[in-house]
Amino acid sequence: MADFCTKCAPEMGFDADIDIDAVAANLKPGTYQTCLCEGCVLLAIGKTDGGETILAVPDGNYLQESEEQPVRWVSREEFMTLPSKI
Ligand SMILES: [Zn+2]
Repeated sequence: MADFCTKCAPEMGFDADIDIDAVAANLKPGTYQTCLCEGCVLLAIGKTDGGETILAVPDGNYLQESEEQPVRWVSREEFMTLPSKI
């Protein structure tokens, strides 16, 4: 079954399988948890040492076959403005 995040699930008309705020609330500062949103390819949810939620997304040229994937960490605010690619 495909999983969709807080941003993508509402666009598809159902509840999020990957609840960003619920996951972030359970993270200790300086840690992250991996995930994979089938919509926007959200890769991980993290928390900075200062307690800010950060999200890992593929950066630009996402290479499906490569083991080295360019990644970018963005704030929750910026994440919600990114295109969901559904
Ligand atoms: Zn998503």
